[in-house]
Amino acid sequence: MIACLSRGPKKKMCQQAVRTRLRDRGEQRWLRDRHLSGFASHGNGVFLYYHLILTDECNLCCSYCRAKSFDNSRSDEGCCGEIDDTLPVDVSYDLDTLYHFLQKDPVPTVTFYGGEPLLKADVIKRIMDNAPVQRFMIQTNGLLLDRLEPEYVNRFSTILVSVDGREALTDAHRGPGTYRKVMNNVKRVIANGFLGELIARMTVTEDTDIVEAVTHLAGNPDHSFSSIHWQLDADFSDDLSRTTFAPWVHGCYNPGIRVLVHDWVRQMCEQHTVPRWYPFLDTMGDLLNGRPSLLRCGSGHANYSIMTDGHISPCPIMIGMKKFYVGHISRTHPLDLSCVPVGGECTACPIRHFCGGRCLYTNIVHPWKGPERRVVCGTVENLHAALTGALPIVRSLIDQGAIATADFSCEKFNGCEIIP
Ligand code: SF4
Ligand code: SF4
Repeated sequence: MIACLSRGPKKKMCQQAVRTRLRDRGEQRWLRDRHLSGFASHGNGVFLYYHLILTDECNLCCSYCRAKSFDNSRSDEGCCGEIDDTLPVDVSYDLDTLYHFLQKDPVPTVTFYGGEPLLKADVIKRIMDNAPVQRFMIQTNGLLLDRLEPEYVNRFSTILVSVDGREALTDAHRGPGTYRKVMNNVKRVIANGFLGELIARMTVTEDTDIVEAVTHLAGNPDHSFSSIHWQLDADFSDDLSRTTFAPWVHGCYNPGIRVLVHDWVRQMCEQHTVPRWYPFLDTMGDLLNGRPSLLRCGSGHANYSIMTDGHISPCPIMIGMKKFYVGHISRTHPLDLSCVPVGGECTACPIRHFCGGRCLYTNIVHPWKGPERRVVCGTVENLHAALTGALPIVRSLIDQGAIATADFSCEKFNGCEIIP
C-alpha cells in the first residue's frame, strides 16, 4: 500500500483515514444526507468519484489524443512497472459485481468515460437503470449525445463536452464537421430540458489563442457556455519535438491568462456574475477560504477509475499501470481505497497547496524532462500570480455585496482537472 501524504500545514488526515474513521463510526447515513443536501459540492468532502471506462474505442482521432498514442511512450522506463497490455477493449466484468462494489459506498458518483463512452450507450442505460448510484456524469466528445434519450441525458448532473474554441480550431484537431455536430447536439440537449451543468472542455495547444477561444465559447451564438474548463496539451506524452511550446507559453498563453483573469474580474464588477471558468473558479474559491488543495483533479484521493477488467486505478489514463492499481471491484471495499500521493519535486514546491501537483500521471511518468517541465510549472505560477493579484478586488466585491463567496462554489472532482 502506498503511504499517504502529509497534507497542509496542519498535517491533515488523508481521505482514506477519514473514510475509515467515518465508516467505523457508522456515519454513512450522515455522509449521504450531507451529500444530497449539496454540502459536498462546496467543501473538502470525503465523497468518492469513479470514472467508469466503458470502452477504449473512440469515433474520433484527435491530434492530441489517439493520433499521439503510438508515440506515447512512458518515458521513465521502470517508473511505471509492468504495463498490462491485455486489458479488454470493452467492459468485461459482470455489472452486478460493479453494483455490489458501488453499493458499499454511501454516496458514489459515477462518470462515464472512454474512449468515447457514448459508443456504449446501451451499457450506460443499463447502469443508470440498475446501479445503486444517485449521481452520474459523463465526459464525451459530444458527437453521439443524440444516441441517448432525454430521460437519461437529463439525469446527468454534469456533462463535459469536448470543444476547443471556434469551429476552425476545433475541427483542425478533432476532424472536419466535429464542431457543428457537437453544437447541434448541445442545442438539442438544452432544448430537451437538461438542467445540469454543461461544461465546455477545451484542449489547448500552441495554435490556441486562449483569450479568443474562451471568449468565443462564452459568447458563442450556437451556445454560450457558462462553464468552461481547459487543459494544456503538455507533459502528457513523449513529444518533446514541440519546440514551439515554450515560446508560445511565454508569448501567448501566459499573457492571455492574465488578460482572461482581468476580464473575469471585470465581469464580476460590471455584471455581478462570476463566470464558471474552472481554472479560476475552483482555485479562487480556495484562495478566498484559505483552503489548501490536494491534487485538484482528485486522482488518487477522491477520484478513482475503474478499468474495463474491473481493476481500480488512481487516474483514468493510468491504464494498465498495474503497479499503481489500488484494488479490484470484486474484492476491494470502496472506503478502503488507498491514497496515491503526488511526490517528487512537487512536495517541496512553494505553491504546492495552490497547485495540488497538477497531474499524478505526469508526476510518475515524466513525459517531459527538466526545462520543459519547468515551463509547464511556470504556467501554474503565472496562474497563481494572476489570481492572487486579483484577490483583493474580489474580496472587496464580496464585501460590497456585488458577488458572494458562494458564487465560487463548484463541485470538486467533476472531471475538470482545474490546473491546466
Ligand atoms: S507548480 Fe509544478 S512543481 Fe509546483 S506543485 Fe505544481 S506541478 Fe508540482
Ligand atoms: S490531471 Fe493527471 S492525474 Fe489528474 S486525471 Fe488528468 S491525467 Fe490523471
